[in-house]
Amino acid sequence: MRILVVEDEARMATYLKKSLEAEGFDVDVAADGERALDCALTGGYDAVTLDIMLPKMNGYEVCRQMRAANVNTPVLMLTAKDGEYDEADALDIGADDFLRKPFSVVVLVARLKALLRRGQARTADLSFSDLSLSPASKSAVRAGQTLPLTPREFALLEYFLYNAGNTLSKAQLLEHVWGAGFVGDPNVVEVYVGYLRKKLDSIPGKARISTVRGQGYRLVGE
Ligand code: CA
Repeated sequence: MRILVVEDEARMATYLKKSLEAEGFDVDVAADGERALDCALTGGYDAVTLDIMLPKMNGYEVCRQMRAANVNTPVLMLTAKDGEYDEADALDIGADDFLRKPFSVVVLVARLKALLRRGQARTADLSFSDLSLSPASKSAVRAGQTLPLTPREFALLEYFLYNAGNTLSKAQLLEHVWGAGFVGDPNVVEVYVGYLRKKLDSIPGKARISTVRGQGYRLVGE
């Protein structure tokens, strides 16, 4: 497994590289945002740990441009406590999970492994009722028409499709779609289910997300 560590502080970068190598990963380091984007677009990495405050281009922009170029390598953002941005921003630009500094390497490794597992599971195309979704190209189609989804809406629909017909609790959705590190308002799930419903409704069709009172949500076909 090849990991790209994006970190401009040399001591921190060395520490992360050594720690991850001790876990059996192959590690490259990029010390600024432009170099990071170059590597991420061409290097075929299995995951990226991405610092936010970087010379030349910040981590948010690196992640945004990766996603815009359809590079779907899992990204773990390393956020500072009093950063300019918050975790919700990180998720909206297509990061998969985030970890607040300072963090322990044990936690970092556990999060990376979870992301790698998720990344491997997320390659096959999915379909249900009149919906189909391609994780590789990050495209979702309903009755032949492309659904214009944000990365987070896409991840939410993807998780519903994996679990089509099953009731999913808000806690499950939060953990799998927003990542174990999410510490914001859990009502974000309701908000995003609302966004996703609106997008689904924009194209007439059968599949919809139904509310299961007191339990959560379910993707149904009729
Ligand atoms: Ca930095």
